Amino acid sequence: MRPAWISAMTVLTLTVTGADGNEGWFWHITDFHWDFSYWDGQLSCNGQNVSSPGEFGDYWCDSPYSLVLESITKMAEVKRDVDFILWTGDSVPHVPLVNLSQSRNQDIVRNLTATIKSAFSSIPVYATFGNHDYYKKDQFPPHGNDIYNMTLLLWETWINDSSQLENFRKGGYYTVKRNNIRIIAMNTNLYYTGDQLTVNVSDPADQFAWLDSVLTQAVTNNEKVIITGHVPPGFTTPRKVMWMRPQFNIKMNEIINRHATVIAGMHFAHEHHDNFRLYYDSKGNPSVALFIAPSITPWRYIIGSEIEPKHNPGARLVKYDRESGRQYDIQQYYVDLPQANKDGNLKWKLGYNATTEYDIPDVTPASLETLVQKMSSATSQKFLKFVLWYNTNATEFPCNDTCHKSVLCGIKNMDESAFNQCLQNDISFATMLTPRMTLPLVILPLYVLNTVV
Ligand SMILES: [Zn+2]
Ligand SMILES: [Zn+2]
Repeated sequence: MRPAWISAMTVLTLTVTGADGNEGWFWHITDFHWDFSYWDGQLSCNGQNVSSPGEFGDYWCDSPYSLVLESITKMAEVKRDVDFILWTGDSVPHVPLVNLSQSRNQDIVRNLTATIKSAFSSIPVYATFGNHDYYKKDQFPPHGNDIYNMTLLLWETWINDSSQLENFRKGGYYTVKRNNIRIIAMNTNLYYTGDQLTVNVSDPADQFAWLDSVLTQAVTNNEKVIITGHVPPGFTTPRKVMWMRPQFNIKMNEIINRHATVIAGMHFAHEHHDNFRLYYDSKGNPSVALFIAPSITPWRYIIGSEIEPKHNPGARLVKYDRESGRQYDIQQYYVDLPQANKDGNLKWKLGYNATTEYDIPDVTPASLETLVQKMSSATSQKFLKFVLWYNTNATEFPCNDTCHKSVLCGIKNMDESAFNQCLQNDISFATMLTPRMTLPLVILPLYVLNTVV
């Protein structure tokens, strides 16, 4: 736990304004995973005997409705006057398929949509699907279907652009323009390893062609772009799992690299932990930052003998420039879950301001590269902070040299072959500084099928 005086100090630093005073804020919330059975069935609780479930949740289980409702209500108390909200899906809980149905999943998404609308009535929300939101989970089809059509009815007023309705009906994706900022909301669940309907499709729902053309147009129009979606490209670490099918990860990265100059930031989800990754240009300079936001759900997985560390609910505010798109800062909030249950009162605590916590001027790719250099050993102060916030201040899970190497390789290598090469390289940080090394090594892919989050 951070001493109160540090939090007070970080709040004071918020008065520092952006370069031209044109800064705005947006929330990023994700992965509510509302367990409708929390009080009478505990279907999401990993088979654990949760004999006295907390009012606002339990580390073994998905979110009770009290956590969903209070987290949204209290967000509006922290900051209601944001420009917009990014909401990156996974509203449906980790429960057996037999307890779900198309209509039940739709009811869950409808309920969460209404809850967010009632707390932030006039604020547009740019919402994307999570892999759990489809019925059956993960199986997003690369063409029109009822779930796209029904969800569009819920989100249409937020999208507020009739030219985008066809894209949404076809594949659950769209773009909107705000001032000079273009937001691209993707349905990257189509690329997820768990999706059996897109295995042999080269461009599911034509989303890659669309993304490429929207970004090409953004270059012509001198726009700056924020890309959002659920399943991120690259590898989650320290587990070393690539979420996208290899061919889709390659295509996504190619398009991002080709248009990196107009991309102000990428905001994704699905991992339930606080993390980030970097793209690099052909000269090895950092070009695009991809942020992973922690989940609202405190649920943690059990895979064989592996138990996910405890993590608290999280929500974040991002400060950005409305013209240049430059990402100034991230204010990461979290709920101290045991404390909230004890008090019978949910509070969002300010965990950190990225700039003060990590001692960087902003959260641009260049500044994050500086941070990565300061995280050069498993015991470095900045890396220990990163590890603490990875689990939203719930537990200090041990991250040894091997774990540290995996984390840094994941931050610096979006491509499968480069990531694998990084793992094979010497542990020394110097070798990690060359993300585009092409050693003639034959390495078995670490890509594994995993559909848990
Ligand atoms: Zn997910
Ligand atoms: Zn999730």
